[in-house]
Amino acid sequence: MPFPFTNTDESSSLSCQTIVPPIKSALNDGSQSVCDRESEMAEDIDSSEASVLALHPCINDAASCEQTPHDTPTVANTMTGRGRTTPMRNFLLHALVLALCPVSPSLFAQEYDLLLKGGHIIDAKNSVDKVLDVAIKDGLIARVDSSIPEASAVKTLILKDEYVTPGLIDIHTHSWVDQPHMLEHGVFPDDFTFRNGITTVVDAGSSGWRTFPEFKDHIIDHAKTRVLAMINIVGAGMIGGAAEQNLSDMQAEPTAAMAHKYPDLIVGIKSAHFNGPEWLPYQQAVEAGTVAHIPVMIDYGARRSERPLSELLEHVLRPGDIYTHMYSGHRGEQDEQTGGPGRGMREGRARGIIFDVGNGSGSFSWAVAIPLVKAGFLPDSISTDLHVHSMNSDMKDLLNVADKFLALGLPLKDVIADVTWNPAREIQRPKLGNLSVGAPADVAVLSIHHGHYALQDMYNTTFVGRDRLVCDLTVRNGKVVYDLNGITGDPFDAPPSSASRQAKRWSALGEPQSRNRARDSSTKSPQTR
Ligand SMILES: [Zn+2]
Repeated sequence: MPFPFTNTDESSSLSCQTIVPPIKSALNDGSQSVCDRESEMAEDIDSSEASVLALHPCINDAASCEQTPHDTPTVANTMTGRGRTTPMRNFLLHALVLALCPVSPSLFAQEYDLLLKGGHIIDAKNSVDKVLDVAIKDGLIARVDSSIPEASAVKTLILKDEYVTPGLIDIHTHSWVDQPHMLEHGVFPDDFTFRNGITTVVDAGSSGWRTFPEFKDHIIDHAKTRVLAMINIVGAGMIGGAAEQNLSDMQAEPTAAMAHKYPDLIVGIKSAHFNGPEWLPYQQAVEAGTVAHIPVMIDYGARRSERPLSELLEHVLRPGDIYTHMYSGHRGEQDEQTGGPGRGMREGRARGIIFDVGNGSGSFSWAVAIPLVKAGFLPDSISTDLHVHSMNSDMKDLLNVADKFLALGLPLKDVIADVTWNPAREIQRPKLGNLSVGAPADVAVLSIHHGHYALQDMYNTTFVGRDRLVCDLTVRNGKVVYDLNGITGDPFDAPPSSASRQAKRWSALGEPQSRNRARDSSTKSPQTR
């Protein structure tokens, strides 16, 4: 993907005549094969783990603790590569094993915290689209393999007919729930994300260079969801009315300076809702993005003949900049003769402009999307434009927007790429949106329900889909944060399982300790409470 303002070795694989999304065409660039990862994973077993493995025969199967310890030297030899043992060493090893096994065999057998076993992995970065197991340890993806033993993890979830994908990334949201002047607009990320498999959101311009620190204090620092931001070229941020039309408040220099101050959080510059004929908002946004080496996202505001879309996409934006609301039809996206993509859209794509869905409450039209998709003009990324109004309109949630593209005939693996690896690349976060060993263990477990689903657009016209993506489980930083069907839980009237007693290693949901406290207090009489 051609981001000329980033330090990347990847070269564009675009040709001028193609309208294939540039991110899709570059998906395999630098990708890692499963075999590569397997060999890396073998090397990833660090010395401390190896020494525990060497000393303990329970490592591959907790049940083996019941075996005689006479096999221990063999295990030790295998794992350490040392060929000889002495009687004294054998004695000491046996004594250690006997001392350890009765106490807690599982403690030493379970090198992973969480194992998702038997799911169908879709990982665009690594070109994986098949059934594999995924093991997680210390908040990171630890191993991806065809058969990881159940007993090797504290908690193993056996999946069937479910898809395991990187945690979803939504690059167009509005997350500032208590934003001054816009109290009815934003949605706190955790209220909406995990139940949809989303682990990363980008707030698209709610804050500007003068208000970003406040947004960070109020939202980013309190959300369990990873919240990144594109800051608005308007210093006051997205507060509606005249403020968003105030040209004097659109300043590249302080915007770039704020982006430089928070490079871990600010991933882009946003321009939105501008109604005037001037080019200045876009010029300032691009200048800020150039200085800060980050992309610009454009909501192109009112359609004005003084600044046609073709000029924006062919000359003003840089390759790697993002045009959102691509299927709105509001600004001349369609060719008037054919109904397919207009010249600016085609030329923009050929230049490497990124096209994002940004469904919103007024930015997705079937009458636009269907002919553009038929003409091969597919999205680079699928996003929601989440806010209080869109979540209750035709947008609903990210999976519902993804369903629209399944209905239009896109393969599931491409739709998943559009909500994982593609947006990760667009915001220059290549560690996100994939299941490489060592990547943050942000994972979604999805299933597909089949039926008759009338999917709405902004005009309440419908297009029937047969597939409905449902989020069954979400893992953030290696811990379960959402579990639709309670597959991680114990029956309420059973004693806590061994896995539940170690829930801190794999779950952010309830723990047995607090359950016991609750039970104690509920069984006490009112007088004794
Ligand atoms: Zn928006």
